[in-house]
Amino acid sequence: MHQNNYHKKTKFIIITGGVISGLGKGIAAASIGKLLNSRLKIIPIKLDGYLNVDPGTMNPMEHGEVFVLNDGGEVDMDFGHYERFLEVDCKSDQNLTMGKVFEEIRKKERKGEFLGKTVQFIPHVTDLIKSKFFEVAKKEKADLVLIEVGGTVGDIENELYIEAVRQLKSEVGSDNILYVHLTHIPIPSGVQEQKSKPTQQSINMLRERGIQPDIIIGRCEQKLTDKIKNKISVFGGIEKNAVISGIDVDNVYKIPLAFEEEGICEIIHRKLRVYSPPDLTSWKELLNNINEPINEIIIAICGKYTELNDSYASINEALMHCSAHTKHKINLKFIETTDIENNKKTIAEVLENVSGVIIPGGFGSRGTEGKIEVIKYCRENNLPILGICLGLHLMVVEFARNLCNLENANSTEINSLTPYPVIDIMPEQKDIENKGATMRLGSYPAWLSEESLAKRLYQKELVHERHRHRFEVNPNYHQTLKENGLTISGTSKDGRLIEFIELKNHHYFIATQAHPELKSTLTEPAPLFLGLIKSAISKSTL
Ligand code: GLN
Repeated sequence: MHQNNYHKKTKFIIITGGVISGLGKGIAAASIGKLLNSRLKIIPIKLDGYLNVDPGTMNPMEHGEVFVLNDGGEVDMDFGHYERFLEVDCKSDQNLTMGKVFEEIRKKERKGEFLGKTVQFIPHVTDLIKSKFFEVAKKEKADLVLIEVGGTVGDIENELYIEAVRQLKSEVGSDNILYVHLTHIPIPSGVQEQKSKPTQQSINMLRERGIQPDIIIGRCEQKLTDKIKNKISVFGGIEKNAVISGIDVDNVYKIPLAFEEEGICEIIHRKLRVYSPPDLTSWKELLNNINEPINEIIIAICGKYTELNDSYASINEALMHCSAHTKHKINLKFIETTDIENNKKTIAEVLENVSGVIIPGGFGSRGTEGKIEVIKYCRENNLPILGICLGLHLMVVEFARNLCNLENANSTEINSLTPYPVIDIMPEQKDIENKGATMRLGSYPAWLSEESLAKRLYQKELVHERHRHRFEVNPNYHQTLKENGLTISGTSKDGRLIEFIELKNHHYFIATQAHPELKSTLTEPAPLFLGLIKSAISKSTL
């Protein structure tokens, strides 16, 4: 029924996971796409089993960073990998969640669209899921759709997705679909050899659900031995050379190269006829730069979710991209700013040997006074600093308090009773009650002023970056801030929204209301991050 609805030649690669979660299905999917993408239009789709409509309302401690797309979609952080590896802009309808699926089923049922039928998981829900695949394929004119099924096979919340991707085969024809299963090959400490049993069992679970995988990627700390490949091949009914080592690497950008070495492309090509080898020369050169740094620096990230690297995943990535372009190893130092507030540590102590500082985005008041102290230190000691979103807010607060004489100035997010609300919620945000998808989200343009650092870094006047926030610099204070020496270097077209601020006569003091880390790629690092690193390097070698 969907056949004539989609771009006819589209092929599908389905990626499922087994044994344990957290094996990196997103990176595996993105790596496969990277290897196949020289002439193909590859569109990723991620299927999440949770009942939230999107991850926007989830705590990053639980779910990792919320990734924001150009269209304002708040999506799973795997989209960061897709965009960085495939260098495409994804759309929010490429992240399907059970929250979205059931919301739509319920709406359809209320509208009477099921024509008196009993609405059932099969076929109605699975049909709806498949229709989403075809809609995306058609809209994007995709040559290849990569579908990553979240979780591990056997999870109740993902069963409907597994069933939908099983049904897909008979709709698109077996020459147009390929199933990849990512599993874990443990090396138990007692026996010191690779074990295939969990993988065998996981393959069996897939087969019980009607899916015979074409490729197995076995995540392991070592390359898979011939013996283990044989075993998986025999027990899993898979060609031996389609059992691929998913070896642990220190840098995710190496994974496409590791897969390529294992011959994954030939296997995919044999079935789908889609392979046109990409030129990976510059990718390899950039990776070499990371592997053979000429020097190293320390960059501090002041945050509150310091326990979990995933909340700052895109910042980590952006710094990795800068490392590739500057041939410097970037050592990250996470600073829990509540320690500064509680006088557990002095600023000079925490910033010892640090060549540059990032104040990342965030929500709520915890740790903000400590961050403000760090900002003051950087401003007064000419230490390079980059502020992102909440970082910009706090840099404005520090400037207002210490250079504009506005004592106790603050953001109303932190102190609603501040006498000087230099950062405030915008009028259009005030009456919003729903928490989901109601922030200023997605890509917005900013005009950069002549002779600003921002314009020098971007090399253009009009830039587009992604946003995710409710609060903004209060327009009532623009004039005061300017008069006291803050450079407002980028704004919305009408000048009402401040997008970039900076300080002249400082080595590197810049902040943006946006999240430039979300668009950074290995080949094109985010200009503000590259500027920070170059500045930190030149400072550290002075
Ligand atoms: N909490 C701030 C706001 O909502 C900043 C958000 C952010 O840093 N992404 O405006």
